[in-house]
Amino acid sequence: MPDCTMMRLCPFYHGEMLREPAKGDRYRARYCNDNFAWCARYMVARVRGMEGVPSDLTPDETVRARTLMIDGGSAAG
Ligand code: SF4
Repeated sequence: MPDCTMMRLCPFYHGEMLREPAKGDRYRARYCNDNFAWCARYMVARVRGMEGVPSDLTPDETVRARTLMIDGGSAAG
């Protein structure tokens, strides 16, 4: 699969989100450079725009992403 189409806009890709660089590298390899359609951040960004993606949302949080896509996260927690 090609690289994620959100790369240019996504702060996560540019390493601005995680304090653990090795973890960021794993996420980027797994999602940004491969299966971006399964990335929680990508899912939310497609519906709400990148500005609607919480800064702490990691690519593997797909359950949380579904809530954010439905109601913007207003009902979560
Ligand atoms: S974190 Fe997700 S939305 Fe951001 S560049 Fe990677 S795959 Fe795309």
